[in-house]
Amino acid sequence: AMPQNGKLQILPGLRHPNRMSSGKTARPVAPPSVTRQLMQTHAVSAKKSLGQNFIIEPQVIADIVAAAGCDKQDLVLEIGPGLGSLTQSLSAAAGQVLALEIDQSLLAALAESLAACSNVRLLHADALEADLTGLLAEFAGREDLRPGFMAVANLPYYITTPLLMRFLEQPQLPWRRLVFMVQKELAERMQAGPGGKDYGALSLAVQYRAAARLAFTVPPTVFTPRPKVASAVIVLERLAQPPVQVEDEQLFFAVIRAGFGQRRKTLLNSLSSGLELDKQQISAALLAADIEPGRRAETLTLAEFARLAQNLSV
Ligand code: SAM
Repeated sequence: AMPQNGKLQILPGLRHPNRMSSGKTARPVAPPSVTRQLMQTHAVSAKKSLGQNFIIEPQVIADIVAAAGCDKQDLVLEIGPGLGSLTQSLSAAAGQVLALEIDQSLLAALAESLAACSNVRLLHADALEADLTGLLAEFAGREDLRPGFMAVANLPYYITTPLLMRFLEQPQLPWRRLVFMVQKELAERMQAGPGGKDYGALSLAVQYRAAARLAFTVPPTVFTPRPKVASAVIVLERLAQPPVQVEDEQLFFAVIRAGFGQRRKTLLNSLSSGLELDKQQISAALLAADIEPGRRAETLTLAEFARLAQNLSV
């Protein structure tokens, strides 16, 4: 059963962080022998359906935390702590960590690996469904933390695109930086420009909201179980202002989605079936935006999509 938003389960051991033993340091989870032992003790096995590929190379953990560049004033959201390997290092580097794990069967192992990490709040929750704004608001009044947050995660493959779209489409989520381990192919799609098969709604949303860079790539061997493909850590730095002017962001993203919804069709056709607008209206907007109606979505630049949305909203 999926955890319900209103009924978040907080581990008893982590409910009162101040009562946790202080001065203790966590025994690192990442070395393969410790990971194996933790999984055995708590009778857990990796679930493919939840995208569980645990990092077993301590250097990769250190490299992710270095790419995040967080300090003691940072609030860090971690999605999918797994057995807690990355969480331990985030706890040491950041001021406060909020970790959301969907898999109930990992909670006991996490309670063990994070026992010494008093600045980690662990919740049993689905990151796609959870009210992130509400959960993060709890830390808003902390004077030792700077406003906003960064998200750091070794993301489960199956939620990467919807989760990224959620961060990128919703301007009210106050993230400053996203540092995510993703499949290498997805990292390339995020940075693709017009014209190719890699170019799509994700590339445009990334360009609109952030400056993206690929920090480093890793082979399948740094995980257990090993995924089939290489992975990459990408860093998205939120832009102070989008590079193009868009009045109605909801419409802008709806136009992009409709355009790529049927990417082999002409814009006139894909937009008229994807948006609830008649062909005449769309054709007029395309004309006003100086975009030939026979073009396909994958040939449009960010600026052209912005112009099109502007002309559809008036
Ligand atoms: N952070 C750990 C590591 O690096 O070893 C585990 C990473 S593993 C790739 C992905 C984690 O995300 C798993 O622990 C999985 O159970 C969790 N997960 C999967 N779907 C989730 C969701 N919708 N919300 C929160 N966590 C999720």
